[in-house]
Amino acid sequence: MNAPVTRRNAVLGIAVAATSLAAPSILRAQPAGRIVVVGGGFGGAACARALKRADPKLVVTLIEPNETFISCPFSNEVIAGLREIEAQQFGYGRLAAEGIAVVVQAAKMIDPHKRIVTTSDGAALTYDRLILSPGIDFHLDALPGYDDAASKTMPHAWKAGAQTLLLRRQLEAMADGGTVAIAIPANPSRCPPAPYERASLIAHYLKTKKPRSKVLILDAKDSFSQQRLFEKAWKELYGDMIERVALSQGGRVTSVDPATRTIVTEFGNYTPDVANVIPPQRAGRIAGIAGAADATGWCPIDPVTFESKLVPNVHVIGDACLGGGVPKSASAASSQGKACANAIVGLLAGRKPEAPRLTGVCYSTVAPGYGFSLAGNYQPRGDIFAEVEGGATSPVEAPRELRARESAEAERWFQTITAETFG
Ligand SMILES: Cc1cc2nc3c(=O)[nH]c(=O)nc-3n(C[C@H](O)[C@H](O)[C@H](O)COP(=O)(O)OP(=O)(O)OC[C@H]3O[C@@H](n4cnc5c(N)ncnc54)[C@H](O)[C@@H]3O)c2cc1C
Repeated sequence: MNAPVTRRNAVLGIAVAATSLAAPSILRAQPAGRIVVVGGGFGGAACARALKRADPKLVVTLIEPNETFISCPFSNEVIAGLREIEAQQFGYGRLAAEGIAVVVQAAKMIDPHKRIVTTSDGAALTYDRLILSPGIDFHLDALPGYDDAASKTMPHAWKAGAQTLLLRRQLEAMADGGTVAIAIPANPSRCPPAPYERASLIAHYLKTKKPRSKVLILDAKDSFSQQRLFEKAWKELYGDMIERVALSQGGRVTSVDPATRTIVTEFGNYTPDVANVIPPQRAGRIAGIAGAADATGWCPIDPVTFESKLVPNVHVIGDACLGGGVPKSASAASSQGKACANAIVGLLAGRKPEAPRLTGVCYSTVAPGYGFSLAGNYQPRGDIFAEVEGGATSPVEAPRELRARESAEAERWFQTITAETFG
């Protein structure tokens, strides 16, 4: 049985919320170090697991509001009807079985002076080190007209789950001959190639189900990740079905009107049949509440320890941190989670952490059996991560067998990273 949850014992760090999946013996253990991780996504779950495996005496608590994590990687396939949402869902049972206390609550307040995290149900947890991996939230001030209510008619589908399914239903309901617009923000944003993968897979859906339709990309950038590979594939697979309006052609979206489903750009107004509006982003809200986000909306860190430059004893990993050359990807978040765990174990033991070498690989699928990739290595250089040698990108000219092989590798990558993180 779990220890009863009172404010006092929660503050002492010996109990967590009633919804905790924690092993009771861990809660009674004499703490060697109390580590609280906020956010059970690719960064946070990988970090919690690596900490507990590195030193089983650590008291590791993972705070996450959802009992089931829903993965963004491969969610574009769900939108295009190539995969079901169930294949994207992962629980925290295995992490709990390894002795990580999983608290199914949102972190609401952080007091960095007293080193206390308060959750939505009012419970308070003390920490020696706090790790924030809350992913992204939307920078709504930067997109007039867009808010939670607007996302019900103009879905972003940039956090997987209900939004993913809503966009899929809208595509299914659209008549042949319709236009699907995708509004893409400037960087930094979560997974820079993913909007173009989405455009590709939506085009695949339309080509097979509603061939008179088109995809219109309204882009706040002039150039984008793996552009030559995408554009070559679009021509080869979809002819002129995908049209892109770049930043210099007036493609940046300046506001939206959800009542009329209108997207306003620097060039003109569009009223597509389906409007997938991906707003500008910033670090997950709790990072700002903790005082770890700067004026950019992202969190500056020491790239060796991932410790916040703004708040002591708080480390930030994943999409939320200012990672320099590291793209905001699940692959990088997982790599950061493990490196951060290693640094914290060292710090708690009084050792000087070594500079980490991060790896990241990003696969893009443009049609079933047609994929390409971008792999990179990153090391601290000054205040940020810089890309170092050893990276690779798929060649622009390549036989279809290579595209098919990379598409199969993408699926294997997904199986591996989700098994490593949650399995
Ligand atoms: C369409 C799409 C496709 C993508 N495809 C790929 C891909 O193929 N490969 C790849 O590497 N990356 C891909 N990504 C990017 C990837 O999803 C993110 O980079 C990755 O999830 C970042 O990990 P994270 O831990 O920072 O955040 P997340 O994985 O989003 O996890 C954040 C967690 O924090 C929780 N949280 C937030 N606030 C709080 C709070 N206050 N208290 C407690 N918990 C909180 C959330 O519930 C969430 O579970 C894709 C993204 C999108 C949108």
